Amino acid sequence: MTTRRDYHGVTIECLQGNIADQPDVDAIVNAANAQLRIGGGVAGAIHRAAGPGLEEECRPLAPIRPGEAVITGAHNLPNRHVIHCLGPVFGKDKPSDQLLAACYRNALRLAEEHDIGSIAFPSISTGAFGYPVEAAARIALRTVLEELPGLTSVKLIRFVLFSTEDLEVHSHALEKAIGEAR
Ligand code: ADP
Repeated sequence: MTTRRDYHGVTIECLQGNIADQPDVDAIVNAANAQLRIGGGVAGAIHRAAGPGLEEECRPLAPIRPGEAVITGAHNLPNRHVIHCLGPVFGKDKPSDQLLAACYRNALRLAEEHDIGSIAFPSISTGAFGYPVEAAARIALRTVLEELPGLTSVKLIRFVLFSTEDLEVHSHALEKAIGEAR
């Protein structure tokens, strides 16, 4: 099941899948760690699929701080770019909501600067970093909708969720955010 909505000339999708297997988008977003190393979860899947060249390209860009984003090539991944965001550790990096929103804003800013037409996000901070998924999804979808009027190159924003539960939460957050924005 895919939820898809067009808003301000941009398509927003929520679907279930693997962020490292999105060959039809220009850029994928990594839920990175501060050192931009391989790690587990999303970062592990992305670095394994990209190959060691990605860690090498990342090394001089690290460390990054919560809310920040950096962009690299995609190496062996079927995309043009990887945008690495460091989400907040819930309850430690504060204010967590503003730092999480900054991840989405900074990723979209980098996408615009690199003429990226389509971008796929995972659910940043909701794995090892412990952010409750309902709250994180609300922030993610609201922030993305707020940014839409300023976008010119980005035409597709996809949220790739690992579980059916997380997909439902994000689809619901998308409907709600659009309802509030109208
Ligand atoms: P963080 O450290 O920012 O919390 P994680 O990588 O631990 O990031 O997890 C973020 C979310 O992504 C979790 O919901 C996790 O289940 C999910 N996830 C893990 N691997 C993948 C993957 N390959 N594709 C999409 N989502 C994934």
